[in-house]
Amino acid sequence: MDTCLSCKGHVEEKRVTHLQAYHDQWYIVENLPALVCRQCGERFFTAQVYDVLHRLVVGGAEPVRIVEVPVLDASQTEES
Ligand SMILES: [Zn+2]
Repeated sequence: MDTCLSCKGHVEEKRVTHLQAYHDQWYIVENLPALVCRQCGERFFTAQVYDVLHRLVVGGAEPVRIVEVPVLDASQTEES
């Protein structure tokens, strides 16, 4: 695949940081190979990369580090 499915822009291979939810837990996966559209920034993953993601997250890979993630609530910015 060398064109974006959304905008037909050119895609290039990059390593990205991917956020994945699984069973109410968020996982940050660094250095995941992706095809990234130069035009709209959309990311695509090959079936092999989904396999890697599945092995890491579902397979319970050992985390390289643990980070705390702030949770924000957009409704608090609304005027009542
Ligand atoms: Zn695109």
